[in-house]
Amino acid sequence: MPHSHLIKPLIGDHYPMIDYGKGVYLYDKEGQEYLDACSGAVTANLGHGMEEIIQSIVDQGSKVAFVYRSQFSNQPAEDLAAFLHEKTGYPWSFFVNSGSEAVETAIKIALQHWQEKGRPAKRRILSRWLSYHGITFGALSASGHPVRRERFDSVIGDWPTVEPPYCSKCPFGKTYPSCNLACADQLEIMIRRIGSENIAAFISEPIIGAAGGAITPPKEYYSRIKEICGRNNILFISDEVMTGCGRTGTFLALEQWGIEADIVAVGKGMSAGYAPIAAALMSDKVMDPIINGTRIIMSGHTYSGNPLSSAAALAVLKLIDSEKIIEGVESKSIYLRNLLDKLKAEFSFVQEVRGKGLLLGLEFDMKGIETGGAFTSAVVAAGVDNGILLYPAAAGIDGRKGSAIIIAPPLNITKRELDEVYKRLRSTFQTLEKNWK
Ligand code: PLP
Repeated sequence: MPHSHLIKPLIGDHYPMIDYGKGVYLYDKEGQEYLDACSGAVTANLGHGMEEIIQSIVDQGSKVAFVYRSQFSNQPAEDLAAFLHEKTGYPWSFFVNSGSEAVETAIKIALQHWQEKGRPAKRRILSRWLSYHGITFGALSASGHPVRRERFDSVIGDWPTVEPPYCSKCPFGKTYPSCNLACADQLEIMIRRIGSENIAAFISEPIIGAAGGAITPPKEYYSRIKEICGRNNILFISDEVMTGCGRTGTFLALEQWGIEADIVAVGKGMSAGYAPIAAALMSDKVMDPIINGTRIIMSGHTYSGNPLSSAAALAVLKLIDSEKIIEGVESKSIYLRNLLDKLKAEFSFVQEVRGKGLLLGLEFDMKGIETGGAFTSAVVAAGVDNGILLYPAAAGIDGRKGSAIIIAPPLNITKRELDEVYKRLRSTFQTLEKNWK
């Protein structure tokens, strides 16, 4: 029998067949309802079935669905670049089709930046443990996600070099704030060992997503990182594929640390799942040597800047803007966090509630045993049984033995729907308490 999914399902022997979605709910062909408390893979930022977004794709399709980027520009792609410039301050956008490609492009542009400046030796990319930057080889090389990397070690680049800012399981055994941010200072130590003359860029996710479950660094962390990168003449790439486009309560999450990176990767929420599109965003500082040099970015895909995807992303971002969705995130975050704290007080295996905006994480610890992926899978499966979708994350200092989930509902979720998230999570945890051995 032909299959579109070659992945073993988490529950049973086949994936439920989805029929349709409306708002924060998805419905399968058997009529089962799922509350999408993780926006799929932290992607469906406006929920499902938004007519005006779908109409924008139809309207663009009736004009032209595809043009090749080396032959033509198109209006939605240009308007999208202008919109992103206005919202983020980055004048340059390079459109791709996935977060992995956005990270690959960010890395390529960093390398090209130094080449065009006559410094080709600056080619190492530093990154952090417990990170996920994508599944393609370049993005995976930078990723500190042991389980996703290990099969491909023979092909991909070096392991990451820098420890994560994982305060509850500090890799240095220290406690914040007396630690004085030893995790950030480790970047400086690594730069000295490797030599800044050999390093192009440092890449990190503002909040650690799939590889950590919304691990959120302290407030001074990124200004220290930025200062270290700047002083050592290294570009700072921020992977905002999961955190970007309003997810944490600001358009880019790094705004909350008061920091601008040199290059930013965005994806997921950029089109909120209505069409595949992602982007690398660059400052003038990064692009000037290229613009004054070869003027060609040595990258691109057949579907880069696709008119349908660009129209969908533009409609999503305009709606987020006109409906003031981002402005509403903080109060919903506080509301949801209170509910999650209530669950932490009730269920002893909930060890920590963390995150920012509507990117919140729960880390688990079952009776002092590091339960690893098996417990995460059990939580997600029990969630499905209780009609709620949860995003599984790796956790633990080795990225294997810990267990965490991400709660990241659509940003336009109502407080009443958040109460429903709490209700279904509570019954999920009651199921686990009874059944987990
Ligand atoms: N970067 C981050 C921070 C991510 O969370 C992800 C996906 O989860 C990616 C990159 C890869 O994006 P994609 O799956 O669209 O290739």
